[in-house]
Amino acid sequence: CVAASLSKKHLPLARFIGDSAAPVAANFDVVVIGGGHAGTEAAAAAARCGSRTLLLTHRVDTIGQMSCNPSFGGIGKGHLMREVDALDGLCSRICDQSGVHYKVLNRRKGPAVWGLRAQIDRKLYKQNMQKEILNTPLLTVQEGAAEDLILTEPEPEHTGKCRVSGVVLADGSTVHAESVVLTTGTFLRGVIVIGLETHPAGRLGDQPSIGLAQTLEKLGFVVGRLKTGTPPRIAKESVNFSILNKQTPDNPSIPFSFINETVWIKPEDQLPCYLTHTNPRVDEIVLENLHLNSHIKETTRGPRYCPSIESKVLRFPNRLHQVWLEPEGMDSDLIYPQGLSVTLPAELQEKMITCIKGLEKAKMIQPGYGVQYDYLDPRQITPSLETHLVQRLFFAGQINGTTGYEEAAAQGVIAGINASLRVKRKPPFVVSRTEGYIGVLIDDLTTLGTNEPYRMFTSRAEFRLSLRPDNADSRLTFRGYKEVGCVSQQRYERASWMKSSLEEGISVLKSIEFSSSKWKKLIPEASISIGKSLPLSSPATYESVLFHQQQQINEVQQDEALQLPKDLDYLTLRDVSLSYEVREKLHFSRPETIGAASRIPGVTPAAIINLLRFVKTTQ
Ligand code: FAD
Repeated sequence: CVAASLSKKHLPLARFIGDSAAPVAANFDVVVIGGGHAGTEAAAAAARCGSRTLLLTHRVDTIGQMSCNPSFGGIGKGHLMREVDALDGLCSRICDQSGVHYKVLNRRKGPAVWGLRAQIDRKLYKQNMQKEILNTPLLTVQEGAAEDLILTEPEPEHTGKCRVSGVVLADGSTVHAESVVLTTGTFLRGVIVIGLETHPAGRLGDQPSIGLAQTLEKLGFVVGRLKTGTPPRIAKESVNFSILNKQTPDNPSIPFSFINETVWIKPEDQLPCYLTHTNPRVDEIVLENLHLNSHIKETTRGPRYCPSIESKVLRFPNRLHQVWLEPEGMDSDLIYPQGLSVTLPAELQEKMITCIKGLEKAKMIQPGYGVQYDYLDPRQITPSLETHLVQRLFFAGQINGTTGYEEAAAQGVIAGINASLRVKRKPPFVVSRTEGYIGVLIDDLTTLGTNEPYRMFTSRAEFRLSLRPDNADSRLTFRGYKEVGCVSQQRYERASWMKSSLEEGISVLKSIEFSSSKWKKLIPEASISIGKSLPLSSPATYESVLFHQQQQINEVQQDEALQLPKDLDYLTLRDVSLSYEVREKLHFSRPETIGAASRIPGVTPAAIINLLRFVKTTQ
């Protein structure tokens, strides 16, 4: 680094080897900072790859903490979990041991877009995750706050201005490592907001991370600011469930992990969820009190995904919004009102809650709050999640502008693998867009960046018919086993057995001749006894459609330069199927060509095909 343009003058907060008066505490191959959803996966993945790894986090008792919703999975997110699992990651297995209500979303559509989802017992999840982490070979856990980075000269064969070689803790001690992974979530200069009150915190009850944020900024990283929020928590006994719509779990439960045939709890012992709605009185309370709501006052937009009730009221006035009342755990007395994220002053939150059907006598145990935090423009990282600016420094999770446990876990597993590969001087492990939702996520982030919390949807993947939850193992487990060694022998053998059983089943199907109408009837029934989570019907259903999908990809590639009419009014365009979100993005960006439109974050491949065909027919 000394040789490069960075000098100590420019980096007063970053320590250089030899600078520190504090004794060297320890040496590791990989240090992961942060024990959230990205950090646990990163640390476990690096250790599975054979690296001596340290997980350094504020508190051991918050490892695996679910900061917001008591659920995992969903549309697109469930796909990410299957892919994390295919690489022998943790979150899917832990969810199979900790869920209280398992339900597959989107069942009416084809299996390519089914969303595996479960309500999770927060306490159990944390316990099971901590047990797993504390029992992972080669993985050490240390409590402490990383305040600064230790930097050294870059390797000549690589670009990057300097190389990270360790971390300085708040107590002045140092940890040296070959690679460092930052997974600090919402903690970088985190500020919590309720009403007009703000105070520094990474999340409720936790200190923010200031020193590290300053170091990153001084190093020259482009830093942005994002916001998110969480709903109040309500006493279970104070809710009148008897007048609400009840949702029961699936029977049988579909496990998240490929290695499980079933989950830890029987469907009949699982907990229900209940549905209620907001009403005009809720809108009134929100609108009358905007002046008391600084999180919302600064901008009416707020996060598009997991939006607050205030932004829903402002964006879609006079509508009733769903509120799902979700259990927080088997023996928890709390209910999580999903859809009611709010930052009004606490007394107004309580007033708003009690206007809602079933919640007339609800007792608020903890108010909702917003959090504002620094994130790093993800265009500053490579597809292996290593930063361009500092060699061997990796970023994963919410720090990269994403939202959600699953998005964080997906990046964590990739960062952990690559941090380990870097130590071994092996080529990076990159998942492409054609191989997985992980590839879509990382490609979107690293090429397009994001200016709002990014979450995964199936619509973001142009190859979604081939990137199904049921075939994540055949896409990634073999690569994980052979190329990087992050997959256990047991999982590899199971995936091999599933693959050969499937191939056998498909060749049997192909050898039978029926009329197309009879096939249509039979295919949904086709399954072989290799686990409920792997229906043979899925690959059979999509065989011909995949061919069609490739044709669509070719079509867009051919017409990349096609000019879009300058006067096209996207907001009122009725003859083309585009979601409101896509219309808004096209309206604001006004792309000149189809190619430019396809590169706008959030404009889906399906939307591009529809727009392309519309423009071609009207020209
Ligand atoms: P986290 O899970 O936040 O983990 C960060 C970890 O890093 C923590 O363990 C922390 O202690 C540790 N850490 C931070 N700095 C340091 C340091 N300097 N030294 C040592 N350790 C450090 N997601 C949704 O999908 N929907 C929502 O509605 C939603 N709402 C949210 C509301 C709030 C208020 C918050 C806080 C989060 C919300 N999230 C939501 C986000 C979700 O919690 C995150 O996406 C997910 O937890 C990110 O995982 P992560 O591993 O990146 O960070």
